[in-house]
Amino acid sequence: MSFSPVKGMHDIYGEDASEMEEVTNLLKEFAKMYAYKEFIPPIMEYTDVFSRGTGESSDIVRKEMYTFLDKGNRSVTLRPEFTAGLIRGVVSNKLYAEDLPLKYFYCGPAFRYERPQLGRYRQFNQFGVECVGADSPLLDAETIIMAVQSLCVLGFENVSVKINSLGDEESRKAYREALKKYFSSYMDEMCEDCHERINLNPLRILDCKVEHDQEIAKGAPKIKDYLSEASEKRFYKTISYLNDMEIDYEIDENLVRGLDYYSEIVFEIHVKSQAGNDYGAVCGGGHYGGLVKELGGPDLPGVGFAMGVERIVSLLKDNGLRKEQPYLLDFFFMPVGGDEEVINSVFYLMQTTRLLGYSADMAEGGKFSSMFKKAERKKAKFAFIVGTDELEKGVANIKNIETQEQITIDLNKLDEELDKLFEHDECECDDENCECHHGA
Ligand code: ATP
Ligand code: MG
Repeated sequence: MSFSPVKGMHDIYGEDASEMEEVTNLLKEFAKMYAYKEFIPPIMEYTDVFSRGTGESSDIVRKEMYTFLDKGNRSVTLRPEFTAGLIRGVVSNKLYAEDLPLKYFYCGPAFRYERPQLGRYRQFNQFGVECVGADSPLLDAETIIMAVQSLCVLGFENVSVKINSLGDEESRKAYREALKKYFSSYMDEMCEDCHERINLNPLRILDCKVEHDQEIAKGAPKIKDYLSEASEKRFYKTISYLNDMEIDYEIDENLVRGLDYYSEIVFEIHVKSQAGNDYGAVCGGGHYGGLVKELGGPDLPGVGFAMGVERIVSLLKDNGLRKEQPYLLDFFFMPVGGDEEVINSVFYLMQTTRLLGYSADMAEGGKFSSMFKKAERKKAKFAFIVGTDELEKGVANIKNIETQEQITIDLNKLDEELDKLFEHDECECDDENCECHHGA
């Protein structure tokens, strides 16, 4: 019998797993600089959290959710996105009673039953933020600026931002009518999904990925002609902050985003792949006016974004921005001679080294050359070599795998000696006599 992962789901391991960890750590640290704190919602919610009656007409909610009945016959859904679950959490925990705005970041897997393809999986990871409880163009702008800067911190240079305004409920109501009128004369030529969309929410047609439908959508009425005065003012105010911060953006009048809860400003960020791959957007977000209330909370707005971590990792690779780790392990211990006593002493030494804060692994004996090869394969920085002679003298030989330089250290001063081996990483001196051993 052979087993494979569920279609569209992937095992992540080795350097991809390290890269993903590095990316998410950087994003989390950067979010903290914007005063965001972590929020960890459950992976599953009751289905209503996402569908809210018939409140959502988006493909994500109607077609792409992993929904099933639990053993208590309750309909539950693996989160297709974080915003609804996080806002449910804000309401369940009455966090809105705290100082507003609330600023939370999140990170973890999301699930969508989509057709798997490049950059599109059925389980993927998102990093994102939600700023809840204050209604201001300044916070809308801050959110966009933060998303752009996060991508710059990761090393991307040419990020392109697309923005649009969906206006307030009044603006959208008038706009939906205009779209309905426009698209009804093209219905014969449009995809089946759009036939449903025109009645459910004609705005969704603008998000259709079918090429011919996109062509038709180009000629559709534009939201800007239907924006209320307040929405228009808000849009241009947000843009003025982007101009002040010299953020490059492009107004995309057909940008509507994939979920219905958005209102006012929406945005998407794309990064060009130098390898010519098209993964779609790396980041999407926007303002949402009614979601907190829809989920049973007070009438508070929010703004946020979500990034696709896998797409970021692929783009880093395509654009030559993936940093090769110089080494993956500080020490690889090699007990020489093979007798049990040496192996046991080396095991004890390795544990001490780990407790001193270094990463370490060991061979359980074997030929010197094969142990050394193993150290190289494990990408260790140093081989920590100990045999009977060394143990008797209370010393060990440390060999730098890259430079092949070797020094002998005093095991009675293990802490100090190991510190010195890594001092050069920080000291960056050119002095050949420096105590730091120059990474020997
Ligand atoms: P797309 O237009 O590419 O389908 P979306 O609008 O459905 O994206 P969002 O709901 O805004 O995506 O999710 C935020 C980000 O999550 C996207 O910009 C993308 O980077 C990532 N993402 C979305 N769906 C997937 C998926 N199936 N696999 C991998 N990453 C995804
Ligand atoms: Mg999508």
